[in-house]
Amino acid sequence: MSATIATLLRMASNRLADTSLTASLDAEILLANVLEIPRSHLYARPEQIVEDRQVRLYALLVVARSKGRPIAHITGSRDFWSLTLKVTPATLIPRPETELLVEEVLRIVPVGAHWYIADLGTGCGAIALSLAIERPNCKIVATDISKPALDVARENADRLQIKNVEFLEGEWFIPVANRRFSVIVSNPPYIPNEDPHLREGDLRFEPRLALTGGPDGLAAIRKIVLRAPTHLDSGGTLLLEHGYDQAEGVRSLLAAAGFTDIHTALDLAGINRVSSGRFEE
Ligand code: GLN
Repeated sequence: MSATIATLLRMASNRLADTSLTASLDAEILLANVLEIPRSHLYARPEQIVEDRQVRLYALLVVARSKGRPIAHITGSRDFWSLTLKVTPATLIPRPETELLVEEVLRIVPVGAHWYIADLGTGCGAIALSLAIERPNCKIVATDISKPALDVARENADRLQIKNVEFLEGEWFIPVANRRFSVIVSNPPYIPNEDPHLREGDLRFEPRLALTGGPDGLAAIRKIVLRAPTHLDSGGTLLLEHGYDQAEGVRSLLAAAGFTDIHTALDLAGINRVSSGRFEE
């Protein structure tokens, strides 16, 4: 049953080719996980023999992946920004495009600033924790309606020894009733309820609560935009991630709520992904 790294990778990518668009990457991530080595080490030793016990474990993980289970759920983690975060089926799996939201916030928060920032619907804490690391003098409040998600976020903060994030349970602004922030950021659920993508790929395994935003996908964004002015310092900024075809809708909502300096940023794929606006009292 013993086999080399190169053979296992070849067999696994073939096995995954029909069900995953990233078959060889998946095969590598899973093998690196089983061998407990960085993925780059696989290329350095393709002829290394893998122990039977590890071959058997690898086979189980490859089968799980061939049934569609997200890589992040199999390995229990996902890299985001500079962090490796714990992820469970209770949270959304952080997406690379959400790093744009972090970049956009960092563009407006000066290094060394002691600002008060809110991350609404934090999930596993990806946005809040990235901001906390990059702006250690800022205080971040991260809310989520899901207690199991918040437990994962807290665990991530503890493991990374991040102290400047406060976690509060509740929907959107409810846990921060009388507080005001310099910046409010959110990657809320924004996929329309009946979107066929929900039946594809990793989305099948993620919490609906973190994905869907009503018939047009904008239900959560509407709530956040309407309430944000009462939670922003004068001149404060609201930044929201949204779907590829929602920029115009989100910008109109911001304008209707009295925001100015409204603009949309493109992600690395050239897709309208983050819209923001400032609120002057
Ligand atoms: N960007 C995710 C997707 O389209 C959705 C995440 C969200 O709704 N915030 O798969």
